[in-house]
Amino acid sequence: MTFQQLGVIDPILKALDSEGYTRPTPIQEKSIPILLKGKDLLGCAQTGTGKTAAFAIPILQLLHKHRTQEKGKRKIRALIVTPTRELAIQIGESFTVYGKFTGIRNTVIFGGVKQGAQTKILDRGVDVLVATPGRLLDLMQQGYISLRDVEYSVLDESDRMLDMGFIHDIKKIIAKLPPKRQSLFFSATMPPDIVALSRKILGNPEKVSVTPDQTTAEKVKQVVYFVSKPAKTKLLIHLIKAENMNSVLVFSRTKHGANKIVKLLDKAKIGAEAIHSNKSQGARQRALGNFKSGETKVLVATDIAARGIDVDDLSHVVNYDLPNISETYVHRIGRTGRAGASGIAISFCNEEEKAYLRDIEKLINQKIEVVKEHPYVNFKPEIAAKDAAVPYGLRKKSKPANSGGGGSRPRRRSKRHRKTD
Ligand code: AMP
Repeated sequence: MTFQQLGVIDPILKALDSEGYTRPTPIQEKSIPILLKGKDLLGCAQTGTGKTAAFAIPILQLLHKHRTQEKGKRKIRALIVTPTRELAIQIGESFTVYGKFTGIRNTVIFGGVKQGAQTKILDRGVDVLVATPGRLLDLMQQGYISLRDVEYSVLDESDRMLDMGFIHDIKKIIAKLPPKRQSLFFSATMPPDIVALSRKILGNPEKVSVTPDQTTAEKVKQVVYFVSKPAKTKLLIHLIKAENMNSVLVFSRTKHGANKIVKLLDKAKIGAEAIHSNKSQGARQRALGNFKSGETKVLVATDIAARGIDVDDLSHVVNYDLPNISETYVHRIGRTGRAGASGIAISFCNEEEKAYLRDIEKLINQKIEVVKEHPYVNFKPEIAAKDAAVPYGLRKKSKPANSGGGGSRPRRRSKRHRKTD
């Protein structure tokens, strides 16, 4: 089955093609035709199944098809409510990417930040609004948002929204939606309270469910290395060399961390570049081009910057830092093993990150295999700290083998460099 056979229109097909999506995932194959017919949908699916595109593609298509000829400010015609800021940003980016040739405009709002930048965009008018419940209600109450023109509503990750205590907010939001609309409801699990909520929202929905064995999380081979923070780069260098990795996307939590990893890989004579929001668009494009052509083996990215990355044959994804938001893990590892291909995702986990690992395992509902034997199992942070204070070439050989960069020229480490996290 292809997206074209599902009835997806050319401007969206073009965008999907440029994203490297060759075939729809099972949830997309099942949901897109139902939604294009204008029916309500109850979807039981986890993150990692491709469910964002399963609703974003038909919504974009319907909005595009039924474009209003009205002049003036755009009205919110599609509303997507999702529990976390992270998910909201990801959904907004999906709409931007899949809709880049449709002229449909979206924006994302979430709490925890000042509202000024968000209300400015809302004032200009958008077709699609992606929101977390609290900020949405807040801006509705302040009069910045009206839901009266909403034709398509999506409640995403509904079980999590209830777990997070959003039930009252959700009910208030639903009460403001026009009764005549197409409603979509997604949840990873279907306990009784979720079923009850879905009945309040949906008319006579079609039901779609994808079984966990079709998720990204199960397609990708995943392993975790327990390793102390100071030994992470050494382990990375060791693995790149030992496993002969040739196309590795490394995720770093911070921009600063990404730069630091690149420097250390450079010292070990491994071609690497970083992409993050402090880099100019040109520099990012260049880094991506070099990575795609194989000139650099390693691309080190922050989560935000990595979203735009579209590389087909990544051999490995490395979680240098484990993300504190479990969904991010699924998105990261989804960068390998795309469109049916299998991939390998390696995670480094230090003592402080063990709680994140537990959360991730809970979300993907599986235990990640631990690689117990590696050269840095007992790497002591104190030794590394002492080492770091000594100019690079003057250090004593430390215990673990393959410390990477061993043969490189002595170099002074600047004060700024030493202060790194
Ligand atoms: P989601 O479940 O929506 O969070 O998507 C998980 C990952 O799968 C994301 O990284 C998407 O970019 C990717 N993805 C979604 N649909 C497809 C597709 N048809 N082909 C390849 N990758 C996809």
